Amino acid sequence: MDIFERLGVDPIINAKGPATRLSGGILRPEVAQAMVEASRRCVDIAAMQAAAGSYIAEVTGAEGGYVTPGAASGLMLSAAACIAGHDLGAMDRLPHTRGLKNEIIVARSQRNMYDHAVRTSGARLVEIGIADRYAGAGVRDAEPWEYDAAINDRTAAIYYVAAPGNQPSLPEVVAVAHASGIPVIVDAAGQLPPMANLKRFIAEGADLVCFSGGKAIGGPQASGILAGRRDLVMSVAMQHLDMDTAPGRWNPPASLIDRNAINGMPRDGIGRVCKVGKEEIAGLVTALRLALEEDASGALRAGWSHHIARLAEGLAGLNNATLTLRDDPERDPVPMLAITVDQKALGRSAEEVLVELERGKPAIYMEPGELGNATLVAQPQCLAEGEAEIMAERIKAALRA
Ligand SMILES: *Cc1c(COP(=O)(O)O)cnc(C)c1O
Repeated sequence: MDIFERLGVDPIINAKGPATRLSGGILRPEVAQAMVEASRRCVDIAAMQAAAGSYIAEVTGAEGGYVTPGAASGLMLSAAACIAGHDLGAMDRLPHTRGLKNEIIVARSQRNMYDHAVRTSGARLVEIGIADRYAGAGVRDAEPWEYDAAINDRTAAIYYVAAPGNQPSLPEVVAVAHASGIPVIVDAAGQLPPMANLKRFIAEGADLVCFSGGKAIGGPQASGILAGRRDLVMSVAMQHLDMDTAPGRWNPPASLIDRNAINGMPRDGIGRVCKVGKEEIAGLVTALRLALEEDASGALRAGWSHHIARLAEGLAGLNNATLTLRDDPERDPVPMLAITVDQKALGRSAEEVLVELERGKPAIYMEPGELGNATLVAQPQCLAEGEAEIMAERIKAALRA
């Protein structure tokens, strides 16, 4: 009996991708092994963070790095760092921000469900821009001058959600922000692959960047990467690490926390609620190293393409639908297979097919973002060997009905 049988929970086939709702992805054996190894001994958790942080700094080109329990918690910690800096009193008060810089500027078009994490710090989001390019007639989104006009002496940071084609570009926003000494926090949770993005946003001037550990790199589901300015990462560490020791005995790693820059020892901060275990740190750095190696050798993409090719083969001769392979390395960061349902011929909607797959045994999840075009998309990152074949049989059956 495995753990799922003991718990009475049915595993699913996840062709939607590393969604938190679907428990993320599947760990490589080496990543699981690193977590088991880490589980066997105890360490000073700050030393573990400092070591992981210097590896993150190295691979991102940032001054500092830190392991968070996910990109969302990284956003909360980033916002808290930009508000409180190295002010121990301010850290102690968060999320109450009266009298502190507590405004974080965001383009209206970039508001999203994860910005609750930014607000959890105590920050108030100040929206700018009108995304009138979505109204049919319009062509404009937020403009650099609008960020500039919103900056005042209560501005703590600018929050920027990275996505291909976002307007204005990150370098344009950074130029405006830095002219007024304001840091830029980048949500890059889902912006890997391409792995080059690990360095890109830092190179473009971001002060803090958050990536998910549990998405494309295959780290533990509850892990994330934070990279950025040393002083801000120090503030993150001070507001995240457990502080339950006496000031006279507190001995944090100098690479993470410069004791000369503060006038005492912080209390447990706002980030203590989202702690990170040594097992997650071990798993994250191992996954990051392997993802970089496999990206360089081509194995990362080849593994994904393999699942998609098996699925396409299994679906040959499919009724009532057409297949489109999306596997152009230039255009598709992750290869995918689109299945466009001929809803008239089938007599059912693509959504009904999707629901049948989700409610079957084992449950099969696919990407629903293109249902408006009667299209189900298979995403290979969380598939295990043999699952593409099971999927093909089930999809063919659902499309025969
Ligand atoms: C997934 C995602 C997050 C949350 O990341 P976690 O690692 O699950 O905390 C935040 N922002 C965006 C844009 C995301 O896609």
